[in-house]
Amino acid sequence: MNPDFPFTRFAPSPTGYLHRGHVLSALYVYAAAEKFGYRVRLRIEDHDQSRARKAYIDAIREDLEWLGFTWEAESIQSSHTERYERFLEVLQKKDLIYACNCSRKFTFETNPTNADGEIIYQGHCQNLGLSYGKDHAVRFKTPNVSVTWEDLRLGTFTENPKEFCGDFALKDRIGQWTYQFAVVADDFEEGVGLVVRGEDLKHSTSRQIVLAEALGRKEPPLFLHHPLIADPFGKKLSKREHAASIRGERELGISPEALLGEVCAKAGFIPKAEPLSVNDSIQLVKNRLF
Ligand code: GLU
Ligand code: ZN
Repeated sequence: MNPDFPFTRFAPSPTGYLHRGHVLSALYVYAAAEKFGYRVRLRIEDHDQSRARKAYIDAIREDLEWLGFTWEAESIQSSHTERYERFLEVLQKKDLIYACNCSRKFTFETNPTNADGEIIYQGHCQNLGLSYGKDHAVRFKTPNVSVTWEDLRLGTFTENPKEFCGDFALKDRIGQWTYQFAVVADDFEEGVGLVVRGEDLKHSTSRQIVLAEALGRKEPPLFLHHPLIADPFGKKLSKREHAASIRGERELGISPEALLGEVCAKAGFIPKAEPLSVNDSIQLVKNRLF
């Protein structure tokens, strides 16, 4: 482990209450932290200011504490503006970004989409010399390289980020930092050497590796992508859907141990739900990691 990057992190977005999918994710974060010798940081990912709510931020901390999780460091993306501006300048000096004024409609009409339904931005605005500012997104000149990384759970992945997503946005047209940019800047600056997150984000990894390198990071973090638990309708749990929240379950009187036991059963770590402490739950997940 590189001593400059001693952290892993749990990084929920405060756009809704935490649900059971987040609990499984937190268990993987803590299990991997123990297994591989990392410290845990909580990062509130409120880069999308149009959807983040103060009540959800407070609830994230309260619900995690109620479940019995503790963390050694904490940060919140809305206080990182200076950091993101500074990193953007690094990229600008290297001539690795450009302004883009494509409308949402035009972007969808003129670019292909990938397997995740995202735009593969082909670089329409790259040579237009547009100035940065209002109503302009900032895009990264994604290098056309094949990136290989070793997922600690899924094995070897190879992907060319230019082919997969093209020149992705670092800032959107209304001036908000994107998930991709904020997360890479934060993981670098906050000493994150191990990223543990859901499998739904595995196609973000190759672009995050090339972006981290462009920001000056010498070695990318390690990655571990965990399986997601499905809701009763077979879809992955999402805050935006109908999944019951931890907040809601608490109000109905469930204990943290009962909830943890149900999450561990649902994820297949135990055959049948039984009450489990947070520590016992973490050990169960840890025994599943190689
Ligand atoms: N904030 C993201 C989410 O809630 C997680 C980002 C990450 O772990 O890279 O899904
Ligand atoms: Zn454009």
